[in-house]
Amino acid sequence: MLDLYDIIIIGGGAAAASAVLTAKNRGKTVAVITNPLETSSLYRAEKITNYPGLPPMSGREMTELFRRQIEENATDVIEGRALNVMPMDESFGVAVGNDFYQCRSLIIAAGITRENLYPGEGEFLGRGVSYCATCDGMLYRGKTVAVIGNSHEAKEDADFLEGIGCKVLRFEQNGRYEISGGMKADTVSFKGEKYPVDGVFIIKDTVSVTRLVPGLEYEAGGIVTDRSMATSVPGVFAAGDCTGKPYQLAKAAGEGNIAALSACDYMSKLNG
Ligand SMILES: Cc1cc2nc3c(=O)[nH]c(=O)nc-3n(C[C@H](O)[C@H](O)[C@H](O)COP(=O)(O)OP(=O)(O)OC[C@H]3O[C@@H](n4cnc5c(N)ncnc54)[C@H](O)[C@@H]3O)c2cc1C
Repeated sequence: MLDLYDIIIIGGGAAAASAVLTAKNRGKTVAVITNPLETSSLYRAEKITNYPGLPPMSGREMTELFRRQIEENATDVIEGRALNVMPMDESFGVAVGNDFYQCRSLIIAAGITRENLYPGEGEFLGRGVSYCATCDGMLYRGKTVAVIGNSHEAKEDADFLEGIGCKVLRFEQNGRYEISGGMKADTVSFKGEKYPVDGVFIIKDTVSVTRLVPGLEYEAGGIVTDRSMATSVPGVFAAGDCTGKPYQLAKAAGEGNIAALSACDYMSKLNG
């Protein structure tokens, strides 16, 4: 792993693959942070018939092709969920669990987040609600915590929390929960039942892009960008479904290409 990458790309679909290829051709070092490939929208598509240059194939086959290209061309691929981005002096830090990666320019290619926030989730985030058991679990040693999520990671996190002495209440992600409390979250409500807790761990595959980077401008349809795919935060570019409709592969790949070129321009201007 490098101490400082030229570019970090968050996401592992068509937009990310296209951005990696272009950045590599420009001689840049690139780390790709991505969830497992089954989390890409494309993975669920039955058959893709409108991507230029490729014969019809299943979404799963195409996802695997993109992932292979990413693995063959990125400097490093980090499998995990980017939790948040910290703008620093002419660079960015990206947290993935307890690890931290740094880059000069960032491309968000995170697709769309379909889940809505649970009532209380945003309000109590950092006050009893956490997205990361490894980061915050120790605060709840010996206490009762809820773990909401269906993924393999959610199960692992629940096991980890039990292992450090927490009493864990498991909840499926699809339910309609409400998180409430006073200064801190202290209750999860579900189907009329109230469960007293000391903390709530919500383990989703994705983190809403609205909360990924502070100051990122967002409209209902996606991250606001200009034609160079620059966002409202200098040095941060976005591509693919996360910038809004149409949700199409060719658009995602095109935007990934533009975002990578723009990130390269941004860095050459930084160098003066
Ligand atoms: C059922 C279905 C059928 C479709 N059919 C077609 C079709 O026929 N033709 C067509 O052109 N398009 C089709 N689409 C749309 C197409 O799949 C999307 O437009 C395309 O996949 C978008 O690519 P992307 O790179 O922007 O995002 P995605 O492919 O969604 O990739 C984003 C990746 O980033 C990951 N990610 C998100 N947040 C984080 C984070 N915080 N940390 C790490 N990783 C993260 C996600 O888990 C995901 O793996 C279809 C979509 C669906 C759901």
